[in-house]
Amino acid sequence: MPPASTIPLSANVAQLRESATIAVSQRARALRDAGRDIIDLGAGEPDFDTPEFIRRAAQRAMDSGATRYTAVEGILPLRQAVAEEASHRWAGAGRVQADEVVVSTGSKQALFNACFALFGPGDEVLIPTPSWTSYYEMVTLARASCVPVVGDPANGFKVTADMLCAHSTARTRGLMLNSPSNPTGSVYSAVELRDILALAAERGWWTISDEIYIRIAYGAPATSTLQVAPSRERLVVVNGVAKAYAMTGWRIGWTISVAPLARVLTALQSHTTSNASTISQHAAVAALTMRDAADAAVGAMVEQFRTRRDVALGILREEPRIQVLSPEGAFYLFLRAPAAEGGASAGDRFAEHLLEVGGVALVPGTAFMAPDWVRVSYAAKQSQVEEATHRVVQAFRTLSR
Ligand code: PLP
Repeated sequence: MPPASTIPLSANVAQLRESATIAVSQRARALRDAGRDIIDLGAGEPDFDTPEFIRRAAQRAMDSGATRYTAVEGILPLRQAVAEEASHRWAGAGRVQADEVVVSTGSKQALFNACFALFGPGDEVLIPTPSWTSYYEMVTLARASCVPVVGDPANGFKVTADMLCAHSTARTRGLMLNSPSNPTGSVYSAVELRDILALAAERGWWTISDEIYIRIAYGAPATSTLQVAPSRERLVVVNGVAKAYAMTGWRIGWTISVAPLARVLTALQSHTTSNASTISQHAAVAALTMRDAADAAVGAMVEQFRTRRDVALGILREEPRIQVLSPEGAFYLFLRAPAAEGGASAGDRFAEHLLEVGGVALVPGTAFMAPDWVRVSYAAKQSQVEEATHRVVQAFRTLSR
C-alpha cells in the first residue's frame, strides 16, 4: 500500500492527524500481541461491563424487532428521555424539549456535527487548552481556525472569561467547553461557567459544551452549562452514555440545541450516517429512564474511580518532584513529565520510555497541546492502576537523574 503522504488528498484532510489516544492503544496492543506485559492506561474507556439492566433492554429491543432504521434524529422515547433528564437534573435556562435533541453515533459525532454546522472558513474558535485532541481536528475539518487558550496549571489549566476575551478577535465565532475535562480532570465551578457564558452571550459566540463526563465528579455534582447559561439561544450541549454508563461501544451521544439548529444537525446527519444504532438507542432509553438502577450503577462506578484516583495520587505523591493535578472529575491524571533536553517534547519522551521500558501505555500531552505533560487514565482495574503508577514513579526517577 502506498504511504498516505504520496496519495493526492483533498484540502479537507490536508491537516488531519490520526487520533493520538487511539494510536497509543494500538501500539500497546501490538506490543502485547508480541508477548510483552503491557498495562494500558492510555484509553479513556471504563473497564466495567455495561450494567445488566441496560443489556437486557437491548436484548428485548432486538427480540421485538427494533432492528430497522429509525428517524435520523433518533427515536422519540430516547429524545424525550434526554430532554427529561436534562430538565430534571440541570434545569436552569428553561425546560429542554424533545425536538431540541438530536441523537448521534456517539458524542464524537454530535460534536463533529455541531462544529461542522456552526464553524467555517474565516471563523476562529477558542479552545481552552489542554483539551481533548479531537476538538482541534474537528474545528480544522470545518476549515475554521483553532485559537488555543492555555489555562494556568495552578488552576487546573482552567481558563477564565478574561483569558478568552484576551484571545478573541472580530472573527471569533465560538468556543469549546469541556467540564469535567479530558485530559485534566478539572471541573469548572458554577461561577466560572456563568462568567464564560455571559461573555459568550454578550459577544454572540456559540458555545459547544461537551458534558460527557458530567456524572463522573468526586465532589459536589458538576455544573452543566444548562444551569447557568443566560439563554440557550447559542448553546449546544453535548452528552452521551459512553462514559457514565460504561457504554463506549454502543455509540450513543446527542446534542441539545435550539430546535432550528437541531433540524440543521439532523439534515447534516441524514447525509452521513442517518440514525444511530437502533438497538443501542433502546439500550440508552433504559439507561436514562430506569433511574434507580442507573443511579446505583453510576454511583458504584464513580466510587471505584474515586478509590483508584486516591490510590494513584498517593503513589505519585511519594515522589515530591512529580507535579500532578488533583482531578475532581472524569478519570484522568495529568502530570508533568521530567524535562527533556535538546528541544525534545518531555511528554513524548516520557510516554515512549514508559511504553518501551516500563510497559505502561499512557498518552503524551502533545495530543492535548501540552507537550510537557502526559495523561494517565485510571479507568482500569485497581491492581493495574497501582502497578502502573509505581512504574510511572520509577520511570520519572530514572529520567530525572
Ligand atoms: N468528548 C470527550 C472529552 C471524550 O474524552 C470522548 C471520548 O474519549 C468523547 C467526547 C467521545 O465520546 P463518545 O464515545 O460518546 O463518542
